[in-house]
Amino acid sequence: MEEKDKCPTCNSPLGEITETANGRKLRRCSAGTWNKDIRQTDGCAFVKWLPFEQEKLDEKCPECGSPLVIQMTRFGKKMKKCSAGGWDKETKKPTGCPYVEWINGTTEKLDEICPECGKPLVLFTTTSGKKMKKCSTAGWDREAKKATGCTYVEWLKYVPKEENTGEEFLPPEPEEEK
Ligand SMILES: [Zn+2]
Ligand SMILES: [Zn+2]
Ligand SMILES: [Zn+2]
Repeated sequence: MEEKDKCPTCNSPLGEITETANGRKLRRCSAGTWNKDIRQTDGCAFVKWLPFEQEKLDEKCPECGSPLVIQMTRFGKKMKKCSAGGWDKETKKPTGCPYVEWINGTTEKLDEICPECGKPLVLFTTTSGKKMKKCSTAGWDREAKKATGCTYVEWLKYVPKEENTGEEFLPPEPEEEK
């Protein structure tokens, strides 16, 4: 068994990779199980948080032409960044290409029609994972600071991916090394 598959606390093998509601991956010690009733871990409470996998995009960095990747922060915010960029822990400065673009929610086209004006609806997902349907004609006039077009909005109920597994009671993630 490799060192990285072992629990540093009790030497038991680590369990399968599981995912939290906001997409973070972790492995629990196989000598521990989450007890929903008492909201505590029975046995070994070791949890290993896995680093984010970067998702490669088909887009090129506008600054240097290297491929862009999607990266998620530990708070669940997503950003596009240049794969040629990095972070020097020693000097606490970015290295390579500094291009970063924060993603502020995503919109998807829906096969539904706005009940108010008959135009197509889009599904908007906020950075925190909330979803709403809104009219594709809706916009925001920055100068007048008011909504333009159709104002139809329907918030969708947040549906957890799986039954509450008590993830919010997990031990806090380790601080990133500064
Ligand atoms: Zn353990
Ligand atoms: Zn770049
Ligand atoms: Zn509409």
